[in-house]
Amino acid sequence: MTRYSQLSLWLDQVAHELVPRPPLQGVDRQKNWDVVIVGAGFTGLWAALGITENSPNTSVLVLEKDIAGFGASGRNGGWASALFPTETHELIARHGREATVALREAMHDAVDQIGSWASRLGIDAEYVKAGSTTLARSEIEYARAREHVEHTHALGIDHLEWREATQTLKSPGVRGATWTPDCARIHPAKLIRGLARALEERGVVIRESSEVTALSAGKVDTIHGSVRANTIIEATEAYRSRLPGSRRITLPLYSLMIATEPLSDTTWEAIGLEPGETFADYRRLIIYGQRTADNRFAFGGRGAPYHFGSRIAPRFDRNEHVFTRLAATLKDLFPQIGSAQVTHRWGGPLGIPRDWHARVHFDERTRIGRAGGYVGDGVSLSQLAGFTLADLVTDSKTPRTSLPLVASHWPKWEAEPLRYLGATAGIWGTALADGIEARTGRPSLIGKMIDPLTGG
Ligand SMILES: Cc1cc2nc3c(=O)[nH]c(=O)nc-3n(C[C@H](O)[C@H](O)[C@H](O)COP(=O)(O)OP(=O)(O)OC[C@H]3O[C@@H](n4cnc5c(N)ncnc54)[C@H](O)[C@@H]3O)c2cc1C
Repeated sequence: MTRYSQLSLWLDQVAHELVPRPPLQGVDRQKNWDVVIVGAGFTGLWAALGITENSPNTSVLVLEKDIAGFGASGRNGGWASALFPTETHELIARHGREATVALREAMHDAVDQIGSWASRLGIDAEYVKAGSTTLARSEIEYARAREHVEHTHALGIDHLEWREATQTLKSPGVRGATWTPDCARIHPAKLIRGLARALEERGVVIRESSEVTALSAGKVDTIHGSVRANTIIEATEAYRSRLPGSRRITLPLYSLMIATEPLSDTTWEAIGLEPGETFADYRRLIIYGQRTADNRFAFGGRGAPYHFGSRIAPRFDRNEHVFTRLAATLKDLFPQIGSAQVTHRWGGPLGIPRDWHARVHFDERTRIGRAGGYVGDGVSLSQLAGFTLADLVTDSKTPRTSLPLVASHWPKWEAEPLRYLGATAGIWGTALADGIEARTGRPSLIGKMIDPLTGG
């Protein structure tokens, strides 16, 4: 077993292929690359794919600190959803209705793009588009769900249906649910590893175990020496908090997951979750789950602490308190699982932008681009963002390059200790507000106070 296989259920299931590719070579350092991409997660690899589509003769080098899929792309919940971290009504307030409709339609399309690219490239990513259910069990969750449907229907942009308690998942005390068709279930590691292989077949060079230490116009420094590049794409999401020059662009916040052993068909029938369907609920502290292709629950949630100074460390991937809470929450939602064993526990950092708005940015003067700030919605969003970056760097004017995803600057997070205080207040306040609101059945003051800290 490689150390990488312990990073998630998904990487464990492809353990046999986690042999690192060779690091940066002398011959790579002698070349002047058209594009160097830093980070072999979804953003970096979708961008590379977009470049090979737009401009097949462009030389592309991908530099990865560990292995392709080491970051959030190999550890996530496998929701390829149309979600965007900024809510639709806020997008309208910021960008106007026309631009928002274009962005939302591009997100709906990104869910399908993942499936069609996987099949076009021959990747078995276990893609099934069976939609997503969000349960309402308490009075306050019910009110939130009804309001969500009303607002969504009033805006007329996104697809959301109301489901009565009798029509939805069999969770104790369920009062109803919303359902959207715009979500697919994927196996994240199979997708990212498959993308890396497909890119190599197209001539893209991927160097693993090749950490980048600094980048500037035309030059990328690594632990194995420097490379020259006409264009540089920085695609490190949560990890950019460790790169000089971009430390305060995204704040690393941990999301943690568990997976059960495979469950019997009878258990799934008693739960009512279809193959490929994902689920969440209307509490404030985000939870998310999917039924995997091998019939496990893969289930995750936020609530792990923020680490002072935006630190990222392997030990932060595990938090026994959060794992115990996740197992209890899953059992509370679906007691039908009985004494099913939890076989995998893992986590990883998300990238949170200061204003909770994902971005693609390309500076034509330095020819440095980056994309990210996806919060927990990066599976489909990185497909759209990666292809948009590809359009920008290959100078291809497409409908994507006019989306309000493309921005001229990135707002920065505050310096410490303010960043720590804000992030910690957001995490603790969310859990506290859930507890108060579940007891009283009414929106709490603390919930309203933390909304600006949590993107709510
Ligand atoms: C537990 C968890 C659950 C999630 N669930 C979902 C979900 O269900 N749906 C959803 O849409 N989103 C989800 N997300 C978020 C989603 O996974 C991410 O937004 C997305 O994968 C980000 O992709 P990325 O390529 O930008 O970043 P990453 O996948 O993190 O890739 C960045 C890469 O850069 C490399 N790197 C970093 N620094 C350097 C350096 N200096 N030099 C070279 N390489 C470097 C890293 O090793 C990494 O491989 C989840 C995230 C987590 C952690």
